[in-house]
Amino acid sequence: MLGSDILQNVNTFNYLGTTICSRDNLLSDHIKDRIKHAYKKVWLIKSLGSMKIQVNPLNFSKGYWASVVPKVCYGIFLYNLKPKILLCLDQFHVNVARNVQGLSNNTPMAVALSSIQWVRLSSHIYREVLAVVGSIMKLPAISLYKRVFVAKLLEYKYCGGNENERGPVAFMYNVCFKFEITDSVFEMIEKGKNFENWKKIVKQRVYNREEKEIKATLMMYKELGDFKNSSINLMNGFVWWLIAKRDVNQLYKVKVMLKALVTNNEKCGFRCECDEKPNIVHILFKCKDINDVRREHLDRLLSIMPNNLRNDFLDIDEKRKVALIYSGFGNFVVEWWNVYIGILDFVYNSLKDWYNSR
Ligand SMILES: [Zn+2]
Repeated sequence: MLGSDILQNVNTFNYLGTTICSRDNLLSDHIKDRIKHAYKKVWLIKSLGSMKIQVNPLNFSKGYWASVVPKVCYGIFLYNLKPKILLCLDQFHVNVARNVQGLSNNTPMAVALSSIQWVRLSSHIYREVLAVVGSIMKLPAISLYKRVFVAKLLEYKYCGGNENERGPVAFMYNVCFKFEITDSVFEMIEKGKNFENWKKIVKQRVYNREEKEIKATLMMYKELGDFKNSSINLMNGFVWWLIAKRDVNQLYKVKVMLKALVTNNEKCGFRCECDEKPNIVHILFKCKDINDVRREHLDRLLSIMPNNLRNDFLDIDEKRKVALIYSGFGNFVVEWWNVYIGILDFVYNSLKDWYNSR
């Protein structure tokens, strides 16, 4: 009893929009529920396009990060999220990334995310959690919230963390530990000073985590060598989405272009008569099966290229040719519009001819 109210014993309770759960499996159900709702919202954003003109991944991205991610992650730093739940969230996130870029379900996570410049949802959550830690540390020393927080942190530091601890501070402590910034936090506590560059440190640590994942993926999947060479990374993503943004009619070709770069044709059952692996370099520049039509496609591309570029292009080997055209020459330059369209046509037509003759 509390006054005249009878207190009920409940398993979950919604407080200010955040569901508080008494057990881990309830939390996991709750997160799955959030994901289910998030998918609905994803299809809603996608439906802004039509079968004919699909939503550009860059436009979709804006809507997704502005309305879906905040909803999925609302108040999420109040939970002690276990790796299994974080993986669930990452899976949802990468499924969305693949779907909106037209990539197949087995495209490695790091590839599907870096081509659209997304960090993993878990990294985003870590970033948010660390931001909360930073703002708590900024509170005045007498603040009750800060005092509880510091006391809890010290308890974990000296008595060890409790695995089954469900409170938010336990998760914050674990995240700090994971990113090796617990020492900085204790320094902030002991010396009573704020870290001016906390935001910068967090940003850098999260970026490093993503970079490590990309490197590990590239090492694991040797066939992604051409993806690696095309300098698609977290910093600039897949430059061709920008071209599709200027001209919606190019979107389909851009999707085909990216998919061909990261698909293992052998695994997918596409082969040719040649002795080489049917990767993108082979299909575009070497495969004997499309020798006749290739000349035609390539000549058209060469005729559009400015002289300097054409000379450079003819000078390098096939592997570097692929890397060069896929990179879109580093960044998007309007004056080269015709060349971009020429490259898209060359890649798309060659791929179409090759896949059609399988
Ligand atoms: Zn071949």
